[in-house]
Amino acid sequence: MKIVQKDFRVSTRSRNQMIDITSQVESLVSKSGITNGDAIVYCPHTTAAITINENADPSVPHDIILALEQLVPHRDPGYRHTEGNSDAHCKSSMIGCSRQVLIRNKSLDLGTWQGVFFCEFDGPRNRKVIVQIRGE
Ligand code: ZN
Repeated sequence: MKIVQKDFRVSTRSRNQMIDITSQVESLVSKSGITNGDAIVYCPHTTAAITINENADPSVPHDIILALEQLVPHRDPGYRHTEGNSDAHCKSSMIGCSRQVLIRNKSLDLGTWQGVFFCEFDGPRNRKVIVQIRGE
């Protein structure tokens, strides 16, 4: 089994934002030389996350952000963390900092409507995404 690890940067523009990173991940997979296996897409941040969801209709990421903001408000008198970004830490843990995607025939085996998203919850910032590609 071969393992390739690469990373790339993502510049976010809003406090809460979902950015489609499917093409960046797909490009690393095609350069990896791996035909079948999997890719782990990971972000080493405590106020960001990685998810897979619909990338055809931009209303979907909008509505996910809206729902998360309603579930976890930016300000709450009960928060103790003094940085003022407790909501971002909560959303990061709710969504999770990595996703695994299968690779088949040198490309990501995503569904028709699926894309890989970087989720920013405390932007704007310059972020890092690490991709580990494993297989043969
Ligand atoms: Zn914090």
